[in-house]
Amino acid sequence: SKAEGRGRYRFFEQKMDEQMQARRAIELDLRQALALQEFELAYQPQVDLATQEVVGFEALLRWRHATRGLVSPLEFIPVAEETGLIGAIGEWVLRTACRDAVQWPEAITVGVNLSPLQFRNPSLAQTVMSALASSGLAAERLELEITENALLEDTDTVLVLLKQLRDLGVRVSMDDFGTGYSSLAYLQKFPFDRLKIDQSFVRGMGANPEASAIVRAVAALGASLGIKTTAEGVETEEQLAAIRNEGCTHVQGYFTGRPMALADARALLVQPRKV
Ligand code: C2E
Ligand code: CA
Ligand code: CA
Ligand code: CA
Repeated sequence: SKAEGRGRYRFFEQKMDEQMQARRAIELDLRQALALQEFELAYQPQVDLATQEVVGFEALLRWRHATRGLVSPLEFIPVAEETGLIGAIGEWVLRTACRDAVQWPEAITVGVNLSPLQFRNPSLAQTVMSALASSGLAAERLELEITENALLEDTDTVLVLLKQLRDLGVRVSMDDFGTGYSSLAYLQKFPFDRLKIDQSFVRGMGANPEASAIVRAVAALGASLGIKTTAEGVETEEQLAAIRNEGCTHVQGYFTGRPMALADARALLVQPRKV
C-alpha cells in the first residue's frame, strides 16, 4: 500500500541518515588521528616461492581509535580520500614504513600502498625522495603499490609520474591485478616490477577452473615480461600448492603470515621459517 511505501521510504531515509552521520563522525575523528598518534602499521610477510624465504613485507595501515577500537582501512581510507586527508596520512605511512624497513636486513623490501589520489599529486616523487633521504632507506627496497584505478586518469601525467618514481630507483607494483581497467595497455607503456594477483582469484581457485586459468595466465604473462607475480590472500596449504603449481613467483597471505606488529616482523627475520 501507499502508507507502507511511505513507511519504507522513511526507513531508507533514516538508514541513509545514520550512515551519513557515521561517516561524518569518522571524518571528524580522522582529522585528529594523526596528531593523536592513533595510526600504526602492520607488516605482512611476502614469501619467495623459489627460496621459500620471507623477502619483504607489505605495510598495512591500522587506526587504533580511542573508543571504536581498531578501524579497518576499508572503512576510513575512502573517507580520507573524500576529505583530502589521504595526502597527510599517506605521507605518514610512507615515512614510517621507510624508517621501519631501514632496520631490517638489507635484502628485505617494504611495500607501501598509494591511493589513486596521491598519484594525482605532482609532488609525489618529491615526497618519496624525501622519505628515502630522511630514513636512509635504499630506493630499491621500497615498492610502491598502486591499483589500476590510479592509472585511469590522464595517461600522460601518470606516465611522467611513474617514470619519475622509476628514476628514483623505487619499485612499482600493480595491486589487485585483474580487478580494474586498462591493465594490459599499461603493461605495454610502463615496466612494472610486480603484479599482485587479487585475492578473489586465489579464493576461487578450488571451486572454479576459470580462476585457476586466470592465475596461470597472469603468472605466465609475468614470466614472459620478466615481472614478478605475487598471489594474494593464500589462506590454506592447498591454495599454496595450487599457486606454486600455476607458476607465481611470490605469495602473500594468512597461510604464510598475517599482518603483524613491527616487533614480530623483526623476530621473524631473526628466526626465518621456511614455508
Ligand atoms: P590490499 O592492498 O589489497 O591489502 C591486502 C589486504 O588483504 C589487507 O587487508 C590484508 O590484511 C588482507 N589479507 C592478506 N592476506 C589475506 C588472506 O590470506 N586472507 C584474507 N581474507 N585477507 C588477507 P587490510 O589490511 O584490511 O587492508 C585493506 C585495504 O586497505 C588494502 O588492500 C589497501 O587497499 C588499503 N590499505 C591498507 N593500508 C593502506 C595504506 O597505507 N594506504 C592506502 N592508500 N591504502 C591502504
Ligand atoms: Ca596492497
Ligand atoms: Ca591487493
Ligand atoms: Ca584489495
